[in-house]
Amino acid sequence: MKCDLGHLDPRILAGMSVQELARAVDRLPSKPRYVHDAPRTIQEVAALVSRDYMGDAERLWTGHTARAVQDTVIQVHGVGPALAAMLVILLERCRGIRFPDHQEMGVKPDVHVQRVLYRLGLATEITEAAALDVTKRMNPSYPGALDSPLWIIGTRWCSQSDPQCSACIAQQVCARRF
Ligand code: SF4
Repeated sequence: MKCDLGHLDPRILAGMSVQELARAVDRLPSKPRYVHDAPRTIQEVAALVSRDYMGDAERLWTGHTARAVQDTVIQVHGVGPALAAMLVILLERCRGIRFPDHQEMGVKPDVHVQRVLYRLGLATEITEAAALDVTKRMNPSYPGALDSPLWIIGTRWCSQSDPQCSACIAQQVCARRF
């Protein structure tokens, strides 16, 4: 989008209409997953950063707890608890940030993570709450560390309809609960 528009200036993006942003999203070589929601999400994030953080996205997380960042971004259209959880995990992983409440950061309890935890025999049911609860107990010092491994197992081997147990790295410890 930056190549196409020539900038990612939140003040300008916030002033664009949803229709203009939809056309910009349409021109992307790779489309976001929720292509119909993306223009409004972009506009609302840009408005948030311009209005509350002086146009500087880093102010959204600098000096704040992970919980506060999640509470802020969840106000944006299209951002739910799972996406907010992923955002703070990625900020730590990719930007070298360490939130003061790092230990309380949980996994992004998406469908892959929920399914794998249940099939492994660790979660009692396939729900967000069960995934968050069991990962907290498995790794209390930082439950979020389990996010990537679980997601990789879920997307690489443990698909919803065709799990590849004989190739899966968790096969030795898995309860294979279907
Ligand atoms: S062994 Fe099979 S059921 Fe268990 S996590 Fe791997 S793919 Fe899923």
